[in-house]
Amino acid sequence: MNSKHDCLFCDIAAKKIPADIIHESEDLIVFHDINPEAPLHCLIIPRIHIATINDLNAKNSSIVGSMYEAAAEVAENFNVAKKGYRVVMNCNKDAGQSVFHIHLHLLAGRQLSWPPG
Ligand code: 5GP
Ligand code: ZN
Repeated sequence: MNSKHDCLFCDIAAKKIPADIIHESEDLIVFHDINPEAPLHCLIIPRIHIATINDLNAKNSSIVGSMYEAAAEVAENFNVAKKGYRVVMNCNKDAGQSVFHIHLHLLAGRQLSWPPG
């Protein structure tokens, strides 16, 4: 595995820590956020450890496209694709990133305000 150090999301991907898993593939895992900010709030993470968006490069960045594809698939399965949803990735302190393993938030099921706070 790629969890060379303590990382909550590496541990979730490795099933060392339980999560309410929605979808899994060879590269990705999708699970419900423990503290949902919307009726549907899930997290799409790569199995490989990438700490922040700043750590993306030509070798690992194709995973981000797969994360968006998974988001669209989950949105379709939860019947929010047509009504609307938001995907967002926070990077570092000012954006409020609290888990340093990249994750795409998928939020849906209510009117989302813009701009975010
Ligand atoms: P960030 O603030 O880094 O963008 O997002 C981290 C997200 O992970 C938060 O929305 C938080 O609620 C969620 N989270 C933190 N710890 C856990 C956990 O142990 N399990 C799950 N399912 N979500 C978690
Ligand atoms: Zn990790």
